[in-house]
Amino acid sequence: MDGGCSCGALRYRLTSEPLFVHCCHCLNCQRQTGSAFVINVLIEADRVEILTGEPQRVPVPRSGGKRQQIYRCPACEIAVFSTYTRKHVRFVRAGTLDDPSAVEPDVHIYTRSKVPWVTLPESTPAFNTYYDVEKLWPNERLERLRALRSR
Ligand SMILES: [Zn+2]
Ligand SMILES: [Zn+2]
Repeated sequence: MDGGCSCGALRYRLTSEPLFVHCCHCLNCQRQTGSAFVINVLIEADRVEILTGEPQRVPVPRSGGKRQQIYRCPACEIAVFSTYTRKHVRFVRAGTLDDPSAVEPDVHIYTRSKVPWVTLPESTPAFNTYYDVEKLWPNERLERLRALRSR
């Protein structure tokens, strides 16, 4: 899967299937995107191949005094991915994929701040806040996560 910014200076390729796909309804994500939620494709940092451009890292305050690193195109400043506490996992913004419909949320999180007009499918797990990765991710994906943690 390929994606990029609006001006074309920054292009990237995901070299494998994602680890997991989050639909996050938290207030931070709503503010950052100006929308009702964000779709984040979680994937190992070394599986995000930068084809052109140099993503610019911008530290952004979050609620609770933490910071999140948002990587942007240096020219048009579109945000393409983020990192949180674990820098080996990138949260790629699915809306920047050439085909955003190529991924679907595996989980909805922080639904406590979900806007009321968004109706979630019953078939997808949803949580008020975060969730227990060990309980939800398939074994093969957990193996990939463990491989990252042991680095
Ligand atoms: Zn750009
Ligand atoms: Zn969020």
